[in-house]
Parts: sequence; structure tokens; C-alpha cells
Amino acid sequence: MTGRQLITDAQNTWCPGCGNFSIQHTLKNLLADMEKEGKDLDTVVLVTGIGCHAKMADYINVNSFYSIHGRAIPVATGIKLANPDLTVICCVGDGDAYAEGLDHLLFAAKRNIDITVLVHNNRVYGLTTGQYTPTSPLGFKGKSTPAGTLEFPMNPLDLLLASGATYVARGYTRKMEQLKTLVRDGVLHRGFSFIDILQICATFFPMTDYYNKRTYDLPEYDRSVFDLACSRAREWDYNGDAPIALGVFYQREGPTLDKKVDRVIRSVQERDNAILDFLASRQ
Ligand code: SF4
Repeated sequence: MTGRQLITDAQNTWCPGCGNFSIQHTLKNLLADMEKEGKDLDTVVLVTGIGCHAKMADYINVNSFYSIHGRAIPVATGIKLANPDLTVICCVGDGDAYAEGLDHLLFAAKRNIDITVLVHNNRVYGLTTGQYTPTSPLGFKGKSTPAGTLEFPMNPLDLLLASGATYVARGYTRKMEQLKTLVRDGVLHRGFSFIDILQICATFFPMTDYYNKRTYDLPEYDRSVFDLACSRAREWDYNGDAPIALGVFYQREGPTLDKKVDRVIRSVQERDNAILDFLASRQ
């Protein structure tokens, strides 16, 4: 199918002003560009977890898999291993990926499986009406923490760098052109690409003014230098008033799990074929 309508007719239930719209349209525009450049969109698979972000599986017209909470990344990994020719994009929420599914996220980075993970990081559980997540700031007042959280947020960029991710970036839903470039580069990257997207939750955590005041674009530097990337990632700890860098923090090439598994499967098949040929020659 070419020139397809990329937004489905499914009724959209996101709140007005939700940052998910920006991510949806970023993906739509990127997929349209890729199709114009000759990409067969039937080779693209979108996997989602559970949460407001997950409705993307209903709203974007490509092959999709609506997974369960925290388990989108193992599903995406399985799809890529079963068919390495597919382009696998995985949309997850911050509650989804940084809480229940954190181990899967870290192991996907460690394995360097060639998938692209977009974290819709609105720093709140929106679908369940406003509980704190691992990236909510200290003192966040939500349904489960009316007096404010007592925990510091985690820094997912720092964590993913330490876990071996070969492409680490941060985008913002109010900067859609930049976001499209980050996602495109992540999709083209051969290996595990991770993009933390600062997303506005219009209803439970409207952070537009906060992000507009603090975000800036990363200057040019050698993105293959791990220590530089770590320093940049630690400038803002998802808490407080430090400047918030946007862009690619780190990128390097490395062997991917899907290619390694493919090589093992081929060598086993060759061995089995040789055994069968030998047995046939003895009959
Ligand atoms: Fe978007 Fe927040 Fe509404 Fe969910 S609750 S649809 S994240 S604005």
C-alpha cells in the first residue's frame, strides 16, 4: 500500500493539549517521509505498552501490537529476532518503561537489539489519573502522594548510558521538527536507540512553561565520547532548575543482538544441512 492514510479513523480520546498528539504527528510525518523515500511501510511494526501513549497502536496505520504494561520491549525484541528485516518502533510510557518494565529496558540496551524506543515521558501516570512515576520531581503532588513525593526522580539518560545503549537522545513535544530528526536518526541507527521525550500531560502535569524556559539544543561535540555524554546527561537530574539539553547525547556503532542471533541460526542450519547431506550420501 502506498500513500496510505497514516492516521486511522479510530476515535481519539486523548485530552485536548496532550503531548501525545505531537508524538503521533511526528511519527506520521516521519513515516510519510520514509514512504516517499521508498520504504515499504508494511515492514514497519509499532509496539506499545499500556497507558495513554499506548493508544498510538490504534491511531497510527501501520502493523501494530498493543502489548501489556511494562512488556512492550520484550515483544518488540521478539518481533525483531523473528524477522530482522522489520523496522521495529516501540512507544512506551515513563511508568511503563521506567517502573514495571525497567529491567526489560536496561537489558534491551545491554543487548543492543536493533529497535527504537520512544519514551512518552510525561512524568505522571495519566491514564490512572495522576499518580507519581519514577521521573516525577521531588514533592510532586498527585493522587497517591497528596503531601508530595518523598523520592528523588531517576535520571533515565544516565541509566541508559550505563546500560550500554548505543543511541541516547532527548526530545520535547513542543519541538516537533527536532523530535522528528531525533526519531529518524534513531530508526536509522543500527542498534538500540533510546529517545526520552519530555511530553506534556495537559491534565495532570502541565509542564509547558517549565520546559519552555529551560530547554536548549545541545552544542556540537563528539557524541561517541561516553564521558562527555554522561556529563551532559547529568546537567539536569529531572528535578530542579538546571538547563535541560535536547538532542543526541551519545551514539556509537556496535554489534547488535539480532545480527548475532541470525548468525547463530545460519550456522546451525548449515551444520544441520551438512549432516543431512552426509546421511543422504550414505544411503
Ligand atoms: Fe494526555 Fe495526560 Fe490526558 Fe493522558 S491524561 S491523554 S497523558 S493529557
